[in-house]
Amino acid sequence: MEVDRWIDRVSSQKTHLPEITELATLESDLRGLLKDLHAAEAGLVPVKSDFESVSRESARLKGRASDLDATLAASTANARELTALQSELTHVRELLATSEDRELELLLELEPREEDIESIKRRAQPGVARRSELIDVIAQLQATLDEELVSLRGDREERHEAVPMALRSRYDVAMTRAGTSGAAQVVEGRCDGCRLALAPLDFDRFKAQALDTFMDCPECGRVLLP
Ligand SMILES: [Zn+2]
Repeated sequence: MEVDRWIDRVSSQKTHLPEITELATLESDLRGLLKDLHAAEAGLVPVKSDFESVSRESARLKGRASDLDATLAASTANARELTALQSELTHVRELLATSEDRELELLLELEPREEDIESIKRRAQPGVARRSELIDVIAQLQATLDEELVSLRGDREERHEAVPMALRSRYDVAMTRAGTSGAAQVVEGRCDGCRLALAPLDFDRFKAQALDTFMDCPECGRVLLP
């Protein structure tokens, strides 16, 4: 009975480690951060692609302006052609100024979004580290508890075989039905397996029984030990 109760306690300890609870909370926090990260990244995509296309346009205009500058400097063209070149240059410079203003606006919009993403990643980092630590700790603790269970089960087999056959099978039947252990003790008139009080008549019967006879708990069916 004692060994079966220990086995039950250790098995339950194995699945109720505080580290398992901590891991579950942590994983739910990390899933929340991951969701935030995905949202922040999705918000960044269109701004980034606008910024890139405006940057390309600025570079193209800059190139065009410097080509025009060079043509003008080296030009032997007539006055009308020079005026046309000059007027195109002015137009290109205006377009370039507008494009660079837009580039700057988009850059200002881009920076806080990128900082957001970095900050979410930074916040997740210790959690990710703690998570792998917890997974290791849980594996180690469970391995230790498993070893303890193996040794307890070995001990249990020895003790089990030492019990006379008839009593042993009553014990096994009660354990299958009630769980934890197939026997219990009576403490202050209560079965300490199911914790229910024995009726006065049952309690009298329990106290009056011969040393080598055992009655079952009328509630849970466990063999009541003197
Ligand atoms: Zn009982």
